[in-house]
Amino acid sequence: MEQKPSDPAEKDVYYQCQRCGNCCRWPGDVCFDPDEISPVARFVGLSEEDFIQQYMRLRTDRQGLSLIEKPNDECIFLEDNVCMIQPVKPRQCKGFPNEWNFPGWRKECEAIPAPRPVVQD
Ligand code: SF4
Ligand code: SF4
Repeated sequence: MEQKPSDPAEKDVYYQCQRCGNCCRWPGDVCFDPDEISPVARFVGLSEEDFIQQYMRLRTDRQGLSLIEKPNDECIFLEDNVCMIQPVKPRQCKGFPNEWNFPGWRKECEAIPAPRPVVQD
């Protein structure tokens, strides 16, 4: 799916995830930056090399790595609507829909407007 920054008109609106799992079922790349691979590998108890072998593939633009998906296109780490790597999931997953989204995302995502969480220093 094409990523683009959130609509500036919505920059003061925060959307709270309702954990519907829909974004984990959309076909497409779950992109990792290079520094995001090793924490996830450690979390699942694998070396970085073994994690890449077992759970990653080239992105469709061939510019980096993505998680693999199940035959039904949902993310390999989605189990019973729960992300099995939640504490270490990549920025792409953490950032949706507040930091990036795509045209029509509100039809697919059940997140609701909510007070923006206070970030502690
Ligand atoms: S890593 Fe977790 S949050 Fe990201 S797509 Fe997969 S299951 Fe969903
Ligand atoms: S589609 Fe929206 S509400 Fe559903 S899990 Fe993803 S971010 Fe949360």
